[in-house]
Formats: sequence, C-alpha cells, structure tokens
Amino acid sequence: MEKTVDTQQDHFVNLILKLLSNDEPLDTIFKTLIEFFEEQNPSTICSILFLDKNKKRFEKVYAPHLPDFYNQALPHLDIGESAGSCGTAAYTGKRVVVVDIQNDPLWVPYRDMAKAANLAACWSQPIKAQNGEVLGTFAIYYVEPRAPLERDIKTIEQAANLVAIILKYFENRKAAEQAKERLSLIYESSIDAMWLIAIEDEGKTYRFKSINDAFIAVTGLTRAAVLEKTIEEVLPPTSIPLVRAKYAEAVSTGHVVDYLEVAPLPSGVKVGQIRVKPIKDENGVVIKILGIAEDITERKRIDDRLKESEADLIYAQHVAQLGSWKWEAKTDTVHWSQEIYNILNLDPKSAPLPFVEQSKLYTEESWNRLKAAVEHAMATGGSYEVDLEGRLNAQGPRWYVARGAVLEKDPQGHPIRLAGTLQNITERKLLENNLKAALNARDEFIAVATHELKTPLTTLQLALYSIVKGLEGTIDKEKLASRVEKAKLQGDRLEALIKNLLDVTSIGAGKMRLELKPDVNFSSLLQNITKKYEDDIAKAGSSLLKNIEPNITGLWDEFRLEQVVTNLISNALKYGNGKPIEVHLRRSGQNAILEVRDQGIGISEDKQKKIFERFERAVSETSYSGLGLGLWIVKEIVTAFNGKVWVKSTLNKGSTFSVELPIKAQG
Ligand code: ADP
Repeated sequence: MEKTVDTQQDHFVNLILKLLSNDEPLDTIFKTLIEFFEEQNPSTICSILFLDKNKKRFEKVYAPHLPDFYNQALPHLDIGESAGSCGTAAYTGKRVVVVDIQNDPLWVPYRDMAKAANLAACWSQPIKAQNGEVLGTFAIYYVEPRAPLERDIKTIEQAANLVAIILKYFENRKAAEQAKERLSLIYESSIDAMWLIAIEDEGKTYRFKSINDAFIAVTGLTRAAVLEKTIEEVLPPTSIPLVRAKYAEAVSTGHVVDYLEVAPLPSGVKVGQIRVKPIKDENGVVIKILGIAEDITERKRIDDRLKESEADLIYAQHVAQLGSWKWEAKTDTVHWSQEIYNILNLDPKSAPLPFVEQSKLYTEESWNRLKAAVEHAMATGGSYEVDLEGRLNAQGPRWYVARGAVLEKDPQGHPIRLAGTLQNITERKLLENNLKAALNARDEFIAVATHELKTPLTTLQLALYSIVKGLEGTIDKEKLASRVEKAKLQGDRLEALIKNLLDVTSIGAGKMRLELKPDVNFSSLLQNITKKYEDDIAKAGSSLLKNIEPNITGLWDEFRLEQVVTNLISNALKYGNGKPIEVHLRRSGQNAILEVRDQGIGISEDKQKKIFERFERAVSETSYSGLGLGLWIVKEIVTAFNGKVWVKSTLNKGSTFSVELPIKAQG
C-alpha cells in the first residue's frame, strides 16, 4: 500500500516537473495538482485560493469541482477571525480544521452556502511564502463531517508547500525572463556595437553568433555577412592579429580585456574602444566572448584636430614670437604658453614667474612702467600695452611688447581673470635703431660730401679765375702751365670723388660688374701705382718701402685692382703721420697677398670693424677730409674677387691693411 502511494507520488512529482519544464501556465499546473489530490481520495474536493494584494479577500480561486455559485461567491467574502475554514486560516496564518461545518462557529455566516454546495467538512492549510507571508490557502472538503488523520494533515501541509514552491518557481522564472528581456533590450537598443562570439575547435575558431543593430550601423556590414561567419570572414585582415591576441587573452585570463582597434570597414575607417568579456559555462570553461565597441572615430578626429590646432597655435606663436599668458585670481595660478618661455629664454619645465618676480626680466625703468600699467588695468578693469626693454644679459639687447587685459570681474569689480601676450620685438627694435643710425649717417654724409666737393670746386674756380685773369694780362707760359696744372689737379680730385660716389650708388644697388681678364699682372700694376705716389709721399715727408714679388698674375679686373691699391695707399699717406709707408705683395699658395703698412695714427679696436662700412669713419671730419667710402669700396671689390680684407692696428702706432685675393678670381 505504502509503495503504491510512493509510486503515485513519484509519478505526480514527475508530472509537475514536466509541466514546469514545458512552461505550462499556472492554471494547468494547479488544476493538475487538485486533480491528483482528488483522485487519491475520491470523496474529497480540493481548492486553492489566493489572497488579493491587500490581503483582505481571495481573488483567485482554483476549485474545479466546487459548484460555480460557490466559486463565484468566494472572492466577495472578507477573510477574518471566523470566516469559514479558508478565510480564517488565511487570516490567522494557521491551519483550520472544521470537522462539521454545520456545527462549527467559524462557519456560522456560510452554513447555508456550504449546505447548498453539499459540503460538510473543510480543512484548510495556509500557503506561505518563504518569509512567512500568507499567500492563500489549500483546502480539502468532504461531503460528510470528518476529522483528519495524521496522514491527512501531512498531505494538506505538503500540498500547501508544493503550491508555495510552484509559485516561487514562477516568480523566479518571471524575474529571469524580465532580466533576460532587459538584457536583450540593452543589447538591441545599445548605441554601442555588441556581438557574441562562439569559441570553437578548441579556441582555434571564433564565430559570430549574434550582433545587435548598432553593430550593423557602425560597421556597415549586413547581418548575413556576419552571422555564423568566422572573424576571418568578417573583419579586415589587418585587424585579425590584434583581435585574435585580445580574444585569446580574454579566454586564458578569464577577465575583461580592453583595446583600441582601427579598422577599415564598409562604413569607413573606424576607431573603436573595444571591451571583450569571456563567458563561461557551468564548468567554468570559456565558451563565448561578448564584445562591445564604442565608436570613438569622431572623438578621435576631434581629439586629433584639437591636437593639430594646439600645434598650429604653438607654431603660430613661435613664428610671431608672441607668447600668451593667463592669470586666475581665485587660485592665483598663472599659465604661460610655451612661446613665453622661448621669448624669455627660460626653462620650459619651470613654473611661470609670479608677477613680482618678473622685475628681474626688465630694466628698472621698463619694470616700473609695466607695474604701473598692470596696476591701472587691475583697478579700472581695462587693458594695457607697454614696450619693455630686457635686462641686459648674455643674449644681448632684448625688447618686448607686453599686452594685457582684465577678462572677467566679480560683482564687486575685482578682477577674476587677466590674460595677455608678450611679444619679442628685438629684431624690429634693432632694425629701427639701425635705420635711425643709417639716417644719422646719411645726414652726416651729406654734410661731409658737400664740404668735400666744395673744397676742390672752390680751388678749381679760383685756379680758373686766375687763368682767365692771366690770359687777359701778360703772363709767362710757365706760370700759366702751373695754374692749368693746379686746375687740372682739382678737376682730377673732383672726378675721383664723384667716381667714388657713383661707385657707392652702383655697388650699393648691386651693380658692380667685374671685367675679368687673364694674366693681369698685379706686380707691375702695383709698381706703376706706387710710382705715381712718389711725389706725394715725398711732399708728405714720408718714404715708401716696396717689397713686390714680380709677375704675380691672375684673372682679375685691372681697374678694380687699381682702386683697391689706390685707396689703401692714399689712406696710408693720409693717416700715416708722414712716417714711412711699406707696400708688400707676395704669393701665398693660390692667393696673392697685398699689405699696406703705415706708422700713423692707428685705429682703436672698437672702430676697426666699422671702418669697412659705408660712410663710417674713425676720425673727425674736421681733422681729416674724406667720405668714409674708400675702405667700403675696397671691401666690396675684394669680396667680389672672392678675397678677404682685414686690418691690424694699434692706436698711435700704425695700421696694416691686408688683402688676400685668389689668383683665379671667380668673379
Ligand atoms: P675716408 O678715408 O674717406 O674717411 P675710408 O673708408 O677710406 O674713408 O676710411 C674709413 C676710415 O678708416 C677713415 O675715416 C679713418 O678713420 C680710418 N682709416 C682708414 N685707413 C686708415 C689708416 N691707414 N690709418 C688710420 N685710420 C685709417
């Protein structure tokens, strides 16, 4: 007998499990359950009732063999302390056993209803959730008054438990379904591309099992081109080594792996921030990989562009030699652009100098002006522009323009933020200074030139005048010849001066042309020129020592060569204090070296470089006449010959001018 019951129960449990696994609805399961209990004891009628949300009434009734009117009445009855078997059991949470309905106080209000339904006994067991909350009742009715045996009590307890378990199972299943639904909603509506990969062939094959809509949108691939395909069939070949390595890492570590992938896809070249998560089976073996990719193509592009503009700005600031700065009052922080460090020649890794410490950058006068301008701008909320002179250091003179403005004020009018620029204007300033110096030199030159031209002109006029006078009267030929000679001399002097001036304008305009001839004999040229000077040298009480190596010939321009020599010898004469003059010419390798030495006034060291410049003189115009052009012309000619000219001189001791000329001048 016992065995039969067990077999029946086994069968019943199997049946319920089958129903559950088949996803049968609750109705079917409860009906089956009731039928099982009723079949076990044909004189019983079973019911399962569930309370409403407020726990006041029954709202769901499963009782296929109770009369309809009875079932329909049940939901309208309140539960309570004496509300029949079920109403009382639900209310008290305790089992209620009514052996004889007609004579039981709990049933007083429902006696007639029970009678009409032909019900005589009713045992009711509350169905409770895990937390003890009453969910409903499981009840057994009899048509005869009847008291339960111990076994009956066990049965209704088990039945109520079973119902609670089934309910819990349904609740769990619903929660799981909801979670799954939510997941799939996330998967489907995500703007990030997501995909699921199955790992096959012991990790050798990765196959796409599912992709979301975003995957299609981002990649431009179709579902058909992806699903059930291996990664090699779907992804660009350039991505495969990276993807394989990352998937393998996720599989072997069992952890999430992040990486960046740049892939040429049908939708264009995309940059993805990718995360792959290994999914394990119940044995802990990774069987799938879930991938999610954030499309950062646009962000990357913006990032790149931002970086590019930053680089452009740095470059632009560098080209303009203009740095920018910002000052935040709240935090008292200063920011300098890279160019400020460049301009000020400071270590770019060092912190910006606080304003007060910037005093060491500029001359005192400049710093005072800057301080006053900044203070004024701070007080008025305005702006400033100040020219500054850098404190002299190894870099030489420096000039800057500092500009600044208050960008933001608090409601009290105090500046919150200041910004500005610092520009290096040294070059411009130097040019301006040079220009000023050049203008001064020009004015000076005009004065000197006027004087220089006037002197021989006056003498010439006088000479001509006396010639005319002489011609009118009686004058012997010799005297006349000497006057004519004098006039000619002044004419020559004028011509020389004017030639020099013309040279300046034409050479200055870059027009000096060399007329090179082969075999120009420098040695004999020099001999001839020095001969011409013999008289003048003697007149000056000086002497000339010549040391000329014969036959130094080369490819030169004779006229220009003569100019070089003439200028140097006439200077030696002019500034030689009547002391002996030496002229040397020798060959040195492929060069001819000319030296003109005097023992005259000499040139101070600081002036030695300058005298080769146009209009530059180291003597006052009153003590020595001259235009300051001779040495400049010498230098221009020598340079055109690809040669060099330099001076060694000691003040009051004398000067040696040296010229080195390649024998084969490449004019
Ligand atoms: P100028 O002689 O017409 O002034 P130069 O260009 O020939 O012009 O010379 C420039 C300056 O160089 C001269 O004014 C003079 O101060 C200096 N100088 C040139 N030659 C000598 C020299 N031999 N000794 C001393 N000073 C010289």
